[in-house]
Amino acid sequence: MWDMCLHHSWLYAKVFLRERAILWFRMNSDIEFMQEALEEARAAAMAGEVPIGAVLVHGGSVVARSGNRTIRDCDPTAHAEIVVLREAARALGNYRLAGTTLYVTIEPCSMCAGAMIQARIERLVYGADDPKGGAVRTCFQLLSDERLNHRVEVTSGVLAEDCAAAIQSFFAGRR
Ligand code: ZN
Repeated sequence: MWDMCLHHSWLYAKVFLRERAILWFRMNSDIEFMQEALEEARAAAMAGEVPIGAVLVHGGSVVARSGNRTIRDCDPTAHAEIVVLREAARALGNYRLAGTTLYVTIEPCSMCAGAMIQARIERLVYGADDPKGGAVRTCFQLLSDERLNHRVEVTSGVLAEDCAAAIQSFFAGRR
């Protein structure tokens, strides 16, 4: 009886440690990919665009990366997320991006959240909340709306301060 107990708690500890290790690994790669998205945001700022950056990851590697391009492309839909979804779909040869994770520095707007549902992305990781139109958590909750048939797993707050600082310093510089 005691042996059984011991055996069980040992198994339990093993599973617990494995889960912790997976979480730790995921947290670290989330930070790494968010840093790449931040680089895209900073490059967008240098080009006079609103500094938001995104990368799309599939199987542990970056498939597409971009910053906002609305001004450069004279395209109101050229948010970093949309550009990245388009490029990734082309690169992977599939308009459905199952099994991918999108990293973006700022909480996506309703257009981008809608596009993520169309693309069937599996997971979204974003940095700072957007109180002026965030459609994931702050103003609308599109990705968890039960009326839609696809839901996206969300992690928020990754490097949030750096992501918010990039956009705040951009707007401060314009005043
Ligand atoms: Zn957007």
